[in-house]
Amino acid sequence: MVKIFIDPGHGGSDPGAVANGLSEKTLTLAIGLALRDYLLKNYQNVSVRMSRTSDQTVSLNSRTQTANQWGADLYLSIHVNAGGGSGFESYIWNGQFTKKSRTQQVRSTIHQTIVNTKNWQDRGQKEANFHVLRETRMSAVLTENGFIDHQSDARAMRGDNWVENAAIAHAVGIEKAFQLKRQDNDLADDPLYRVVVGSFREDQNARSRVSTLQRSGYEAYILPYAQQGQRYYRVIAGAFYQKQNAEKRLDSLKKDGFDGFLVVV
Ligand SMILES: [Zn+2]
Repeated sequence: MVKIFIDPGHGGSDPGAVANGLSEKTLTLAIGLALRDYLLKNYQNVSVRMSRTSDQTVSLNSRTQTANQWGADLYLSIHVNAGGGSGFESYIWNGQFTKKSRTQQVRSTIHQTIVNTKNWQDRGQKEANFHVLRETRMSAVLTENGFIDHQSDARAMRGDNWVENAAIAHAVGIEKAFQLKRQDNDLADDPLYRVVVGSFREDQNARSRVSTLQRSGYEAYILPYAQQGQRYYRVIAGAFYQKQNAEKRLDSLKKDGFDGFLVVV
């Protein structure tokens, strides 16, 4: 069993970078959840845990402790960049440690796969003294997925498939680095049915819808979306490869008083 620990950066009281009507914490959570679902759906013998599955505040210490206690094989921290620039970069710890060459190899495989798949400007394979890289006992990689304050990067982030494509690129990188085997019934090219429960102009309203859904027991998250130059925040309460499962979710939502619709990706 290969254990993948996914860490969507920031969350709760820490929004991370904010610009162009987007916030880092919602993008990293959306990528993280999509990555988890994709890995579990498409690969054999893979197990996934996450540092957070909703918009909650989680300390860096608690993130790395959870991964260490679980004995993860990979710690993958997902972030979105800011501060001038464009494109993709990744980090591993800049210290000396026993499994550094293995970590370099894992990182390099994931990094190259993402850059090739997403056709992103490659900002390089870097090292830094970040807590989540230093305090983890397993190979730890941090990805910075585009610049939220860069006009064309941000425009791409609002595209319909950006989150899904970022998640799949990470998954294929992990597949190569850990030689994961695909499920026999390969669903990778099948359409994905997202259950949308509300589309809002203000992200504040989208966040309040997410909270209401979570109180009713649904895992929900926000996906930014652009239509005719107008920004929207879609609230997603599930994504399914089987249409009937998506329809079942819609029914259950309706019973709980939520109106939704399906979007095919
Ligand atoms: Zn960040």
